[in-house]
Amino acid sequence: MTEPMATPPRKLKIATVSLAGCFGCHMSFLDIDERLLPLLDLVEFDRSPLTDIKHCGPCDIGLIEGGVCNAENVHVLREFRAQCRVLVALGACAVNGGLPAQRNHLAVGDVLQQVYLTGHGLAAGSQIPNDPELPLPLNQVHPVHEVVRIDHFLPGCPPSGDAIWAFLNDLIASREPRLGHGLLHYD
Ligand code: SF4
Repeated sequence: MTEPMATPPRKLKIATVSLAGCFGCHMSFLDIDERLLPLLDLVEFDRSPLTDIKHCGPCDIGLIEGGVCNAENVHVLREFRAQCRVLVALGACAVNGGLPAQRNHLAVGDVLQQVYLTGHGLAAGSQIPNDPELPLPLNQVHPVHEVVRIDHFLPGCPPSGDAIWAFLNDLIASREPRLGHGLLHYD
C-alpha cells in the first residue's frame, strides 16, 4: 500500500484529461491519498484538471478518462496522442465507452429533442442549443481506442486508487503494468 516508488532518472511529465467522463476516475486517482506526495517528487503534471495548463505539451504519460462523445473530445484526444509517449485509457468509459455508451442504441437527434424540446419541465420556447461555440455531439459514444492508438487499458468504474497507484508505479519504472490480485475489476 505505501511501498516507495521506483525513482526515474528525471521527473516525468504526466497529463490527464476527462473527455466523456464523470471525473470519478480523477477522484479515484486522488484516492492514492498521502502517496500523492512521493508521486510529486517523481513527476510533474502538464495539462490536467489538476493544473491550469490549457494545452498538452510533450509528456511521458497521458491518462485519458472518459470516452469520446463530441467533436472537442476527438480534438483533445488527438492532441494527447500527438504529445504523450504512453497513452492510457483510464476507466470503463475510456476502455469501452462505459455507461454513456448506453445512448448508442438511440438516435442522437431524438435524444436532443427529448432533452431540450419535448421533455418535462422545460420553459416555453426551449431550443436545442446551437451556438457554434458548443462542440457537436457524435452520433455514438466511442471508446478512445477507436480514435487513436492506446498503449494501456486500466478498467474499472472507476479503477481503485490502489490500482492506479500500482499501474503508475510500473509505468514510471518503465515496467509493463501488471495489476496484482484484487486490483483488476470492471465495475
Ligand atoms: S469509468 Fe466510471 S468513474 Fe470513470 S469516468 Fe467513467 S463513469 Fe466515471
